[in-house]
Amino acid sequence: MRTAFTATRLFTPTEEILKPLLEVEDGRITEVSSRSGKEIPSNTSLVDFGEAVLTPGFFDIHIHGGAGLDVMLASPSDLPRLGKFLATHGVTAYFPTTVAAPLDATCAALGRLADAIEAAQSTVSTNGEPAQAHPLGIHLEGPFLSHKRRGVHPPENLVTPTIEVFERLWQAARGHVRVLTIAPEIPGALEVITEAARRNVCVSIGHSDAEMPVAQAAVKAGARHATHTFNAMRPLDHRDPGIIGEVLTDDRLSADIIVDGIHVAPAIVKLFLQAKGTERAVLITDAISATGMPDGRYQLGPIQVDVKDGKCTSGGSLAGSVLTMDRAVRNVTQFSAWSLRDAVRAATLNPARAVGLAGKHGVLAAGARADFTVLSAAGEVLKTIVHGHGF
Ligand SMILES: [Zn+2]
Repeated sequence: MRTAFTATRLFTPTEEILKPLLEVEDGRITEVSSRSGKEIPSNTSLVDFGEAVLTPGFFDIHIHGGAGLDVMLASPSDLPRLGKFLATHGVTAYFPTTVAAPLDATCAALGRLADAIEAAQSTVSTNGEPAQAHPLGIHLEGPFLSHKRRGVHPPENLVTPTIEVFERLWQAARGHVRVLTIAPEIPGALEVITEAARRNVCVSIGHSDAEMPVAQAAVKAGARHATHTFNAMRPLDHRDPGIIGEVLTDDRLSADIIVDGIHVAPAIVKLFLQAKGTERAVLITDAISATGMPDGRYQLGPIQVDVKDGKCTSGGSLAGSVLTMDRAVRNVTQFSAWSLRDAVRAATLNPARAVGLAGKHGVLAAGARADFTVLSAAGEVLKTIVHGHGF
């Protein structure tokens, strides 16, 4: 059975198509075109979303949990509940993200996440069921982080980078590690960066006190992204640009940012968007289990976090967020002069490119998975479709 979806506009997201026709068969997009002057074949059912905008499904490459679930503590059978919650916010794919925990606990969590990823690969969505975002790979946020810029990652769980430890994590995750956040200035880091990049992991510099030349050496070794720019980084100084100077000025690096209005001031978000541009800016949520839940005390892996008025803290430091990706997209349009289409790009194509999954995810084009989000003109999520299902 073929289905064709239409609405007022569609963002591929590099192009905008008016009166679009998005054709789907067996969970894949077969064609994206304009419907003007086109006959809908008799074997195709038409779904019309009226005034809405069709965009690729959002892709969150840095998320620790939501709906009361923490990705390191949840059982694989619980994760679909997180996936359903994320889909209500327009997300169709995500990378569950670890925090620095004792190595044994981390490895156990990685095994559970690998189970969840492999189960999602074989899940066939059926119509009538609510759509759920799928975990596609794992983001290791640590344990190779700077003591000075660790944020809330417990100091006793930070580990000196070695190929041996990386290999242990890699095996525990059964090769599903897709992003590694690492501080390049720690002894041994450059060797691990080289090895991780060789395995097609997106190496992301962050939680780092690196001076600019060290950050440049990391790029030379294979780093190609930066984690929550400005947060947990050596501050930018005009005579000591440091890691942020490198992140903002090197076009070989894409970079992500938490646009909740709490982690980074709106003016600095604007500076970041101008520096990285519509091709390299990536939105993340860094959301924790408290997302979508009332204020209170929550777990972030081994860390206890207090949530009050949308702010997550542990021992006085920011500890993740309760941001959702649809709000991040809307915030970008409010904090800057970026259009909804450019903001959507930073939540779809750009993260997919950063992690090497463009073509299959983050785009509305023939051959890509039929994962898309139906937005109002103001960027509110009306519907989320995964594998062509959920409408
Ligand atoms: Zn995080």
